[in-house]
Amino acid sequence: MKKVTSVCPYCGAGCKLNLVVNSNKIIRAEAADGITNQNQLCLKGYYGWDFLNDTRLLTPRLRQPMIRYQKGGKLTPVTWDEAIRYTAKRLGEIKAAYGPRAIMTTGSSRGTGNETNYVMQKFARAVLHTNNVDCCARVCHGPSVAGLQETLGNGAMSNSIADIEHSKCLLVFGYNCADSHPIVARRVLRAKQNGAKVIVCDPRRIETARIADQHLQINNGCNMALVNAFGYVLLEEDLYDHEYVSRYTDGIEAYREQVKAYAPEAVEAITGVSAQSIRQAMRTYAAAPSATIMWGMGVTQFGQAVDVVKGLASLALLTGNLGRAHVGVGPVRGQNNVQGACDMGVLPNQFPGYQPVTDAAVREKFAHAWGIDPALMDDQPGVRITEVPHLALEGKVKAWYIMGEDPLQTEADLGLVRAGFEALDFVVVQDIFMTKTAEAADVILPATSWGEHGGVFTCADRGFQRFEKAIEPSYNVKRDWEIISLLATEMGYPMHYRDNQQIWDEMRELCPLFFGVTYQKMGEMGHIQWPCPTLDHPGTAYLYEGNQFDTPSGRGQLFAAPWRAPAERPDAEYPLVLCTVREVGHYSCRSMTGNCAALQTLADEPGFVQINPQDAQQLGIRDRALVWVSSRRGRVISRADVSERINQGAVYMTYQWWIGACNELTQDNLDPVSKTPETKYCAVNLSAIQDQ
Ligand code: SF4
Repeated sequence: MKKVTSVCPYCGAGCKLNLVVNSNKIIRAEAADGITNQNQLCLKGYYGWDFLNDTRLLTPRLRQPMIRYQKGGKLTPVTWDEAIRYTAKRLGEIKAAYGPRAIMTTGSSRGTGNETNYVMQKFARAVLHTNNVDCCARVCHGPSVAGLQETLGNGAMSNSIADIEHSKCLLVFGYNCADSHPIVARRVLRAKQNGAKVIVCDPRRIETARIADQHLQINNGCNMALVNAFGYVLLEEDLYDHEYVSRYTDGIEAYREQVKAYAPEAVEAITGVSAQSIRQAMRTYAAAPSATIMWGMGVTQFGQAVDVVKGLASLALLTGNLGRAHVGVGPVRGQNNVQGACDMGVLPNQFPGYQPVTDAAVREKFAHAWGIDPALMDDQPGVRITEVPHLALEGKVKAWYIMGEDPLQTEADLGLVRAGFEALDFVVVQDIFMTKTAEAADVILPATSWGEHGGVFTCADRGFQRFEKAIEPSYNVKRDWEIISLLATEMGYPMHYRDNQQIWDEMRELCPLFFGVTYQKMGEMGHIQWPCPTLDHPGTAYLYEGNQFDTPSGRGQLFAAPWRAPAERPDAEYPLVLCTVREVGHYSCRSMTGNCAALQTLADEPGFVQINPQDAQQLGIRDRALVWVSSRRGRVISRADVSERINQGAVYMTYQWWIGACNELTQDNLDPVSKTPETKYCAVNLSAIQDQ
């Protein structure tokens, strides 16, 4: 029996755990004393390792490479040599015929680790010569990255998860931590116990609302109007920090002009919240000696998400709640390594370490390190994941190499996504399970899983943490970066790495933000927050010390914009708003948690649709009854969960269910900057199943 230190492969809380291994089998997980989790885990941490045993509860583990030689044909098991040769040949042919930009690649924000993501973006840029590389941040916190980079300079949480409990005011906006990050929710609870005021802005009466001092039960889709009204109150009631604003920010006059139409009294109908409540929330926030804003998908999965992120950052700037301990802005990243995938340059506009692809000196640096002619480097931002279906249908993207993602389950408007896949000439899926996307692949490259390899993850607060290999893989699978290296070599770019550390050290040399984070420094239990520019640097617990912002002017950029209504409003035919949400026992596309016996027994139904009792009564829907949920794009079966916690006029579903995925219903109205879809808002109707 041995114990191996690891990091939970689920959410961005980055909980440390010990995997107890006997005869090459994991038999249990124990909480370890990580800086974010302090000997606690949620149920996914305790019971989320079982998928490694290929339980086949939901989908089988991928055990060998497979090729579908003809469209419509069967997937045939092949040798690794044949899989690599065939994939390299097809990618090479498509590149020669249509150019590098006809090939899309994705990294993975899940259990594969930072080293693999570094290698994947290197494959796109140095081998294919395209910036067409992206990750699932596009459909979650892409707007946080874009919005915070513009207003403050860094697209990440400014402080740390451990610091939350010391803040004296938490403004929790569109973020249901009890379901999405249970260990972060503990910090919120502790902050409350330490005397913090808690203000929740959310249409549902979520768990955090139950302990809040104030719950603004807002209308769905009103975020920008509410944030503008918050700004209006800070200015009109003179609650803002004049000295801070004048010394450290730009744009106060333009900001004042933008918010002047958003008096709380003027936006009551949009927000659904009384002017008095809006004013009180800002009085509390501005009066606190330290205040932190936390947000989640309730901010970012809208067509106007980047603007709202910039507006929230502006509230922190107006009140001087940045650049010190116990304050700040906290986009709490969803998947365990989505921060890491972004850190490693799995973004179409940035190399690793957030270095722009449009900067000739940066391109030259990477080209030199990678041994290629700088003229071959793509000098324009590449394609985002959410643009692929459209570009495939236009014939501009022909091939997609997908690592550890399941877009045929997780992307908005699945009918559109399926049409896009059908238009592609060649799809390569590198994964651990036969996901919906793997079922549509021309080539399957089976990879090792979390537990079968080690590496480094970045948790939501910029903290790099190592995780170790616990067991030997049982099937004919390879490590992700090894597969990518074989493909690169077959395509004429020799790529040979000895181990994770060699990849990590190559990455560090190219990224000033991360240079000081060595494997040795991280050790077994280390948590080193970037920036960490030198070998003797301890890491950065909070950003913007001295209120020096990483913007071109060095000052924080105040921002407000007119509110835009969501793209598809309820009407007589589709009278309810559908909002997608998370569920505590499952995760992402559910390919991992759905194959864990303990988690599966918690929830084995075809999902739920949460609905308010009045709406349910009006529609003749009983609690637990099966219902059709329909939108203009499709319809699915679900089970009604009638609850007082739900606001009238809206219903809520997870996207984690294998059958009846709510993304059959959602729409791809994209934020114009981040290209993140509006999966928090579309129009639907519900009907009891016996009526059909
Ligand atoms: Fe894992 Fe997140 Fe739960 Fe921690 S809170 S155990 S990281 S799922």
